[in-house]
Amino acid sequence: MAAPAHSAPPSGPCPQLSGEALLLWRRQQLDLGGEATALDWLLDLEGGIGWQQLQQLRLNPNSTVSLRAPLERLQALWQRHCGQQDPLQYLVGQCPWRDLTLKVAPGVLIPRQETELLVDLALELWQQHGGGRGPRRWADLGTGSGCLAVALARAWPHSQGNAVDQSPEALRQAGGNLQAHGCADAVALLQGDWWQPLQSQWGELELVVSNPPYIPRAVWQGLDPVVRDHEPALALLGGDDGLEALRAIAARARQALAPGGWLLLEHHHDQSDAVAALLKGAGLVQVSAYPDLEGKRRFASARAPEQAWA
Ligand code: GLN
Repeated sequence: MAAPAHSAPPSGPCPQLSGEALLLWRRQQLDLGGEATALDWLLDLEGGIGWQQLQQLRLNPNSTVSLRAPLERLQALWQRHCGQQDPLQYLVGQCPWRDLTLKVAPGVLIPRQETELLVDLALELWQQHGGGRGPRRWADLGTGSGCLAVALARAWPHSQGNAVDQSPEALRQAGGNLQAHGCADAVALLQGDWWQPLQSQWGELELVVSNPPYIPRAVWQGLDPVVRDHEPALALLGGDDGLEALRAIAARARQALAPGGWLLLEHHHDQSDAVAALLKGAGLVQVSAYPDLEGKRRFASARAPEQAWA
């Protein structure tokens, strides 16, 4: 696994060059390989040249641009991405997600755009059923970078949050992101397996979200090396059928959730029926499915029955 390369870009005057020179450099980099959208993402995040500015340079190639980092640095990162397949988010050390900028380094899953919807679903569910207050206690199982935990803690600053992960490195990075967004005090970081480190709060968790590893082994083996060889298998691989973690989470949900508490899950694009069956089989009620940005059923919600776990 690659060491993080996100040393701060050198301070000092911004390197300046003509639009024409930058566009030429861009074409030369694409000749090395890689995708234009990825290179433009790098130019934006590390170079400070957004997509709109890039389009304007095409119209005015004689104009001058100021880069936030030297071209040599951008080039070194791009070559590492093309040559060693290092994810750009690890190389620049950050990832924009919802209205947040999260730090990411090897050892955590890079937050995905589809997971942004899990936050909206949680907020909507709670708005409909929560009676005008935040959940007293919520948890994020398998927090990784802490993306979901940061978003929920910002939405519900007076609730007690819990971010659980098996990986100490993930908890370290999640803690950094919670700190950076001013919500470290609202969220406990707990190391261990799914519900287990929450045992003292079983029966009191009013809302629990999780984006667990759900990729079936054969699919994981065929993933792009930029994902498979660099992002943690612990965060992606859900055993042979992809359902191992989802099964473990469903199995203990009724006991761990507060009576009437909600569980909200992300899963693979073809697991909706299987996950609904797991949730119903575990004694949960009001099981629903929701689509992702491509219209595929990617999320599930379910509720613990109102009567307490015996
Ligand atoms: N959505 C991620 C991907 O396809 C997988 C995330 C996960 O397994 N939880 O790369």
